[in-house]
Formats: sequence, C-alpha cells, structure tokens
Amino acid sequence: MPLDEFDLIQRYFTRPVGNTVLGVGDDAALIAPTPGMQLAVSADTLVEGRHFFAGCDAEALGWKCLAVNLSDMAAMGARPRWFTLCLSLPQANPDWLAAFSRGMFALADEHNVALIGGDTTAGPLTISIQIMGEVAPGFALRRDAGQAGDDIWLSGCTGAAAMAVAQRYGQLQLDASDLAYCAERLDKPQPRVALGLALAGLARAAIDVSDGLLADLGHIAARSQLAAELRLMSLPLPPLSDEAMALPALDRCLLAGGDDYELCFTAAPTVRAQIEQLATALALRLSHIGQLKAGQGVTVLDANDQPVRLPYTGFNHFA
Ligand code: ADP
Ligand code: MG
Repeated sequence: MPLDEFDLIQRYFTRPVGNTVLGVGDDAALIAPTPGMQLAVSADTLVEGRHFFAGCDAEALGWKCLAVNLSDMAAMGARPRWFTLCLSLPQANPDWLAAFSRGMFALADEHNVALIGGDTTAGPLTISIQIMGEVAPGFALRRDAGQAGDDIWLSGCTGAAAMAVAQRYGQLQLDASDLAYCAERLDKPQPRVALGLALAGLARAAIDVSDGLLADLGHIAARSQLAAELRLMSLPLPPLSDEAMALPALDRCLLAGGDDYELCFTAAPTVRAQIEQLATALALRLSHIGQLKAGQGVTVLDANDQPVRLPYTGFNHFA
C-alpha cells in the first residue's frame, strides 16, 4: 500500500503530546501558554543542496532541523515548548521518514518540546520548522541589549563544522579522528538551551552563531549601536590535531565558518564569576573573547592588541 499524505502524518508525525490542548489532526493546534509568560516565536528552513548535502543521513537531518530552531530559543533565553513542521518531500519513502522522525523526536524528547502540527506537500526536499517558547517579561536575551563595557563571551568553540564542510567540498584533508569530531559538530549540533535559560536575567545580549562568529557578533554590535572588539588570542580552539590546527583555512573557519550553534553573548564585567560558575555547572566551556565599546563594527585584535585585517565576513544568502 502506498503511503498517502494522511497515513504519513499519522504514522511518522503524530504522537501524544502532554503539554498541548489539541495536537496534530485538526485544522489548528491549541496550546495553553503559561500565564504571564511571553511567547518567543522563530522559524528556520533547511533546503537540500543549500543547507545540507543531497542524500545526507535522514536521522541526522531530522535532528539538525530541530536543533537549529532550538538554538534560536536558546539565543533568546526562552524555554522551547512547541513546534510545527512543514515538509516538502520529493517522495514518501518509509525508511527515510522513519529515520528522519526518529532523529527529530530524539532531540525533541531531550528538550521536552512537542510537535503540534505542520503541513506536508510533494516537492523539492525542504524542511521548515516554526518553534515557540516561553520567556518571562524582561528576561529575553535581545540582540540590542548590549552595553558599552560588556564582556563578550562564547560557548564551546567555533570552526569545526565549517572544517567538515570544507572537507566535503574537497578543500582540505582531515585525518579520521579530526573528521569524526568535525562531522559530529556539523551534523549533530547540540543547541545550548540550558545555557540560554541560565543566562536569561544574567547576560544582556545574545545570538546563536549560525552564520559565522564575526557576522553574528556584528549583529549584536549593530543592534546595540556599539563596536565589538574580539581578541584573536582569547578565541577557544576546537580539540583537533596539530596538523588540523595548522591548516590555512583554520582562521576563516573559526571566525567566519557557519553552523556552529554556539551562543555568543554579552554580560556586565560584574557577573564574570557567575558566568564562570555556570560553565562549571553546565560542563561547558565559556570563553571571554572581547568587549563591547562605543563605536561601530567588529574589530579583531592580534596578540599585541593591533587590529587584524580580514578578507572574509560571514554567510549571507543574497550577498
Ligand atoms: P489542512 O488541510 O487543514 O491544512 P492538513 O491536511 O494539511 O490540514 O494537515 C492535517 C493535520 O496534520 C493538521 O493538524 C496539521 O497540523 C497536521 N500536519 C500536517 N503535516 C504535518 C507534519 N509534517 N508534521 C506534523 N503535523 C502535520
Ligand atoms: Mg495543510
């Protein structure tokens, strides 16, 4: 029996959802937001051939398309609660659908977030998720909330996902263990939801690093109407071999590579010790990488505090 649209939704995307009044199956879902909380709403689309390689692993893809949306909730300091899934599929392949939904629900369950509806059509492979979360009024981590004198922080490290992409395009050659690490970072990003929640009320501005550190920090600087100074020597490095760390592409991957899904945030210098405690509590590296100052733009400083000229910025679809 061929799988039609409604069998497909029923079989792969319908599960009991405890935090929802009415989930998949009606004209609209009904949700009951916690009284007094604000809803944080965000969407992200992944297009085959643009955001992921054609024929890539379906389970990893299911994980990643939810991960990038959870990362936006993290960057707002919001608790993710519900999402919808709009799927355009070239064909209804049961093995692909089973793997895709397995990957997606594995991450959904980790974060207790419920799939409450969506849309399913035939067409080129495109996955669009809209996510909704909750944040207390005044606690959201807005890009425009940075203040002059703030420390700039980065969770984890950047660069590895972009190195995996460069390897897949044949632009560099990593050994097996470096490639395993970089591919995991590219294909199975860990959205920093717990960090975002802990930073709400502690940090000021935040963004998730999806288009490259320079570009994304640039958004905080622009929206906060300030300049950002980044110290190259303070950047956390990925745990790769000396050979990989010596590749000419490394600096570009660290500063302008995409797909990291770390949080870049600013906070008053007075809360430095609290942020360091948070790093210990979450077992997550948090690095103080620079400062916000009066002015505009992002400046990268070398070991002698001199500005470095760089030939790259971040990713921009229509640039
Ligand atoms: P409508 O005709 O009202 O647009 P649909 O036939 O598109 O409804 O969808 C039927 C139900 O299945 C709706 O509740 C919708 O939210 C849900 N749905 C459709 N596609 C998906 C999907 N990919 N994931 C989760 N729910 C879905
Ligand atoms: Mg529909």
